Amino acid sequence: MTIEAFYPIGTPGKPWGEVEKVEWRSRQRKRRSYADDVLSTLERLRARFDEVQYGELDYAPDHYRLFALKSRDWNDALPIMLVTGGVHGYETSGVHGALQFADRHAADYAGGANVVIVPCVSPWGYERIHRWNPYALDPNRNFIAASAAPESAALMRFVAPFRERVLMHIDLHETTDTDESEFRPALAARDGKPFEPGAIPDGFYLCADSENPQPEFQQAVIAAVAKVTHVAPADPDGTIIGSPVVAPGVIEYPLVKWGLCAGITSARYRTTTEVYPDSPRATPEQCNAAQVAAACAAIEYALAHK
Ligand SMILES: [Zn+2]
Repeated sequence: MTIEAFYPIGTPGKPWGEVEKVEWRSRQRKRRSYADDVLSTLERLRARFDEVQYGELDYAPDHYRLFALKSRDWNDALPIMLVTGGVHGYETSGVHGALQFADRHAADYAGGANVVIVPCVSPWGYERIHRWNPYALDPNRNFIAASAAPESAALMRFVAPFRERVLMHIDLHETTDTDESEFRPALAARDGKPFEPGAIPDGFYLCADSENPQPEFQQAVIAAVAKVTHVAPADPDGTIIGSPVVAPGVIEYPLVKWGLCAGITSARYRTTTEVYPDSPRATPEQCNAAQVAAACAAIEYALAHK
């Protein structure tokens, strides 16, 4: 694939100002419907969960209501398991994997754990198949105090009352070819930095927390996903997207320091999935199934190692 040397917005070497951000936003088109794809499924699931509207996004002319599903048989004596998807709206299997997990498996843990599912943190990005919000901000670098990303701020406000009681948090993501063709070049352009091409790993991997890596937990998730889809091999230099591979399919990030979603609670067990939907060896169904397998394995490991 040929990568454009310069992103078509802004001046190379100069960070974007408001004019460039407005130009970028004007190029984003609605390409699918949050109401049709997500809210309609929530409508169907509502009978089996307590549905919470935890926030809303006013991006005129668009208005998005943000929803979470909680176990109906909530018991404060039980640990909380948090499953989040769609922090990056374009990462389709994160959203549909979270919904599929809610539909098919959340009930498996009744009596053992309270489950909280937030299937689509960034609906504006879901509809535009984009990584950023309308302010050209990546929600997944903005899980920080006084966040400028309303998607991130709303989710942090929602989890604040129970963040200390979350035992496991799994945040569902994808790594896609458009990361390299569109989103990384856009990021470099936005920040006035040169774009340095990288490689997209072919397969599933996890981002653990370098400050609390829990390697056995990560391996349990990898082992479950390996039954559904292939795990990404390390590049020849022993890395996946530039980070050292610490165990098969596992890299580490400082989740809290980088303002990543998987760092928003005090969960002992935390991880970020990265499904690769552009692989010739993976179907959309397999990608959803990989997210579901990861969520189930993560909960089961946490229940067995409380
Ligand atoms: Zn992502």
